[in-house]
Amino acid sequence: MKDHSTDTSAWTARAAALQPSGKAFIDGRPVAAADGQSFDCINPATGQVIAKVAACGAEDVDRAVKAARRSFAAGSWSRCDPSERRKVLIRLADLIEGATEELALLESLDTGKLLRDALTLDIPGSAAVFRFFGEACDKLLDEVVPVGSRALATITREPVGVVGAVVPWNFPLKMAAWKCAPALAAGNSVILKPAEQSPLTALRLAELAAEAGIPDGVFNVLPGFGPEAGGPIGLHPGIDCVGFTGSTEIGKKFMIYAGQSNMKRVWLECGGKSAFVVFPDTKDLAAAAKAAAAGIFFNQGEVCSATSRLFVHRDVADEFTALLLEASQAYRPGNPLDLSSGMGAMISEEQTARVMGYVDKGRAEADLLTGGTRVLAETGGSFIAPTIFGNVDPKAVIATEEIFGPVLSVMSFATEAEVVAAANASIYGLGASVWTSDLDRAVRLSRAMQVGSVSVNAVDNVDLRTPFGGVKQSGNGRDLSLHAFEKYCDLKTTWIALQGEGA
Ligand code: ADP
Repeated sequence: MKDHSTDTSAWTARAAALQPSGKAFIDGRPVAAADGQSFDCINPATGQVIAKVAACGAEDVDRAVKAARRSFAAGSWSRCDPSERRKVLIRLADLIEGATEELALLESLDTGKLLRDALTLDIPGSAAVFRFFGEACDKLLDEVVPVGSRALATITREPVGVVGAVVPWNFPLKMAAWKCAPALAAGNSVILKPAEQSPLTALRLAELAAEAGIPDGVFNVLPGFGPEAGGPIGLHPGIDCVGFTGSTEIGKKFMIYAGQSNMKRVWLECGGKSAFVVFPDTKDLAAAAKAAAAGIFFNQGEVCSATSRLFVHRDVADEFTALLLEASQAYRPGNPLDLSSGMGAMISEEQTARVMGYVDKGRAEADLLTGGTRVLAETGGSFIAPTIFGNVDPKAVIATEEIFGPVLSVMSFATEAEVVAAANASIYGLGASVWTSDLDRAVRLSRAMQVGSVSVNAVDNVDLRTPFGGVKQSGNGRDLSLHAFEKYCDLKTTWIALQGEGA
């Protein structure tokens, strides 16, 4: 790999020398949880403890809200010239880039994901998000409304105040960046709660943010468990908005928390069961098969937009399935610190047991084509072989519920109308991938799919400049793109009646 060592033992030695901070970060300082509680952070590739981390609770949320509110009211961030925020956020992007190897190691140890992906995707991708929103924040113009000469009416964006960001464990730093970068760029103060399985890069981010010049109290990080730390964020009357990525079940809880408290705005990016549709006129079936394997096996299938339902036209079903099985060979699990491994460890024993429960259900309701087993038991880690089921009934449990693991359901179809109906017969609506060389069909399909993003002859295209998010029970609002600012700003109408000459 370009620019990075490929020596696994050197990475292992560096990993052993890391001393991650396990402290929460409130009001510009690392602190222990108010009640002194902590929890073990475990490397799921080895089962070993890598850090002790503060287990924050309601009292810590309250401390962070006080600091965030104070900093917001003080105005050194919320009301400064946005070009100041631009400079600081770009500095933060530079600092993240400068710490790529350290952050990538932390991310890989904390989640079991491939170090290769953390080095090339997660960490550079997170830096790019801070750079994008930093660059954008002093270029967004407000509006003057044409109301005639007797008044001046303006529509201006204002930061909402204090934003809570509650994020998952699959892309810890990236998801934190997707929420925090636009929220900070818009002038809000932020309280980030990373997932309990993967808090380490968020805690390092807090240190880098302080170094970049984000004022005390503007960016706070509270590690801890969902009900104990996430719940109080959802319920706190001093938090004006929550940006959440995670399961649909907990997303719904945040809507309830808002209704039970101050009606805070709740932006949700939740579950998915995205469809990958292959028509017989696909130009390059082998390329489609490679994309299908990536769509489900990248990051161990722990991706909300993973294309976990594959619909292939019956005329090419056999040929495509053979190519898919071949492409899945590239995802053989291995040591995440070995840059030649194909897939990493699952996030936890709990998630592994959940996924294996679905595999057992799949064995009863479909044909197992490959995988279906836990592997690398000798490592003490949680690894699952890439798993593909064929001949799946679209109504089967494995074809309808989100598994969040490396498990693919393959189904065949005969007509376009049939596959559109089957793809849309889901409570989720995050993404879809459509393979065809017929332009008319591509446009028809992209219009018919009830999802937030459609990739044609590509899979799960995510770009800083295009919005990401879902419809139906996949959530609301959008991350990324300039539209992300809309979630973290309120619109203010000012109408000034004019008198005198010219009016
Ligand atoms: P997953 O099922 O992928 O672990 P979750 O939706 O459980 O996803 O978790 C996403 C985030 O929501 C994590 O930061 C987690 O700690 C938090 N969370 C989990 N349960 C709750 C809860 N009851 N209240 C608030 N936050 C929660």
